[in-house]
Amino acid sequence: MNPISKLFPYAPIAKLPTRVEPVGDGLYVKRDDQTGTVYGGNKVRKLAFLLGRAKAEGAEAVITFGAAGSNHALATAIYARELGLRAHSMLVPQANARIVGRNLLRGHTAGAILHYGDGRRAINNLVVRVMREEYGRTGRYPHVIPAGGSSPVGVLGFVDAAFELAAQVREGLLPEPDVVYVASGTMGTCIGLLLGLALAGMKTQVVAISVTSAPYSCAEKSHTLFHATNRLLHAADDRIPLLDFPGDRFGFRTEFLGPGYAVYTEESVAAVARAREMAGLKLEGTYTGKAFAALLHDRAAGSLDAKQALFWNTYNTRNLEGHVEDYRDLPEAFHRYFEEPVQPLDQ
Ligand SMILES: *Cc1c(COP(=O)(O)O)cnc(C)c1O
Repeated sequence: MNPISKLFPYAPIAKLPTRVEPVGDGLYVKRDDQTGTVYGGNKVRKLAFLLGRAKAEGAEAVITFGAAGSNHALATAIYARELGLRAHSMLVPQANARIVGRNLLRGHTAGAILHYGDGRRAINNLVVRVMREEYGRTGRYPHVIPAGGSSPVGVLGFVDAAFELAAQVREGLLPEPDVVYVASGTMGTCIGLLLGLALAGMKTQVVAISVTSAPYSCAEKSHTLFHATNRLLHAADDRIPLLDFPGDRFGFRTEFLGPGYAVYTEESVAAVARAREMAGLKLEGTYTGKAFAALLHDRAAGSLDAKQALFWNTYNTRNLEGHVEDYRDLPEAFHRYFEEPVQPLDQ
């Protein structure tokens, strides 16, 4: 365990450290696809702190938010159940892809209660209803976890991850990276790494590839989240300094988003194929394909020449198949993800 996880309530759901693998030509991969034994990906690190907090506060249920195919809502469902907490997923529409139906079924199998709301107002009304029902039943309100798990408490998971990486550099498992490439959806991952790497005394630059738009991922959010998480750490241990935002070490890239969140682009689909050929990586088109496309672009442009680059793989590769649920068991609003065609680039 790293120092950060000792300062806060922490649920030991993650299998850490994750491996770092060399791909060749100064490229390494951080295998956060294997953060857990049943389900990996970047959300597990955040949930170790978020669910740890929920348990410490005596919650019996959690509510979280995401798009219909949310990896975060699924990870929350799986690990909440492991800790004996009921999970409510408040889900909004998204572009259809095979993973949407797959994650909905997996979430349902993991015991999540799935709610569909078409927009903010509908979701707010649902939250009020679920809060009342849970309180009426158990005398406690459910613990609320924001979309992507990117509250300062969740971001601690990636401050911790940066210390894990620093230890791997000290052990000689990889050279100190000049640059880390990582997808940015709700910014918890990239900002936790930025803060943690700075606190660990590393000079690594973080390149965040935006796969959503404001307010989920934008310059303003990066500052707010950085300072709020830094203050949380400083309050827990005043030997942890309050830092200025290290703008010279943070690259925020928006040109790989394409038409919008969860809409695959030609570049992301090509990057998924390339990552498989180059390194045997299994990526996808919403997050990691866009991040890897940025890395490939920068490499081709020569800006990574003579540099050590680390690709942070945030996408789960643990196999969750084996459920035999029928999609008609899901609330009816979700049936369209099984009955309508997926987007043309998801073949
Ligand atoms: C959620 C997610 C991200 C984005 O992480 P944030 O901390 O929300 O920026 C990246 N990749 C995958 C596969 C994800 O599920």
